[in-house]
Amino acid sequence: MRIPADSLIGEEGRGFRYILDGMNAERILIASECIGDARWFIAKASEYAKERRVFDRPIGQNQGIQFPIAQSYAESEAAALMMQKAAALFDAGEPCGAEANMAKYLAAEASWKAGDACMQTFGGFAFAEEYDIERKFRETRLYRTAPISANLILSYIAEHVLGMPRSF
Ligand SMILES: Cc1cc2nc3c(=O)[nH]c(=O)nc-3n(C[C@H](O)[C@H](O)[C@H](O)COP(=O)(O)OP(=O)(O)OC[C@H]3O[C@@H](n4cnc5c(N)ncnc54)[C@H](O)[C@@H]3O)c2cc1C
Repeated sequence: MRIPADSLIGEEGRGFRYILDGMNAERILIASECIGDARWFIAKASEYAKERRVFDRPIGQNQGIQFPIAQSYAESEAAALMMQKAAALFDAGEPCGAEANMAKYLAAEASWKAGDACMQTFGGFAFAEEYDIERKFRETRLYRTAPISANLILSYIAEHVLGMPRSF
């Protein structure tokens, strides 16, 4: 696009490169949001599992309830480490495409799984609007699709990190 010379940001011809750098920041930001969602789901689920009693015992005493929550905790904390690594590289002005993509992928998968565990823990109450769980469950599902889908992140890793042929 033709613009006055004093409106040029950065160097001419490098616009796409600048956009890509901005996308890394966006991926780190979305990863952080997903980790926040996962922590919210995990806190809600574990509190409820301790207080809700069925058959004279808290449902959280059953491994069928506690293991998915514990697994989500482990996976979301691992995703948080990758997000922090990506953020540290970005702040240092280093390349961080692989780490930003992996952070977004891992965090989106972890928050979706934590949401599912939370839905299951709350049973039928998960579908009551007043608990906010079904709303957040829908919201966090978005990040397996946008702003870049899980498949295309895996495609990026396969091609740019592992050197396999481009799949599209
Ligand atoms: C609420 C919302 C907010 C959004 N915000 C942003 C944003 O801020 N920035 C931004 O850039 N985009 C944003 N998007 C767009 C988002 O990036 C796209 O929706 C997403 O990339 C999927 O593209 P598509 O909708 O065209 O689906 P399609 O391209 O039709 O893909 C449909 C499905 O097929 C899969 N697929 C397609 N091609 C391949 C392939 N070669 N290999 C394997 N699987 C494939 C996709 O992963 C997806 O699961 C947003 C979308 C929504 C719904």
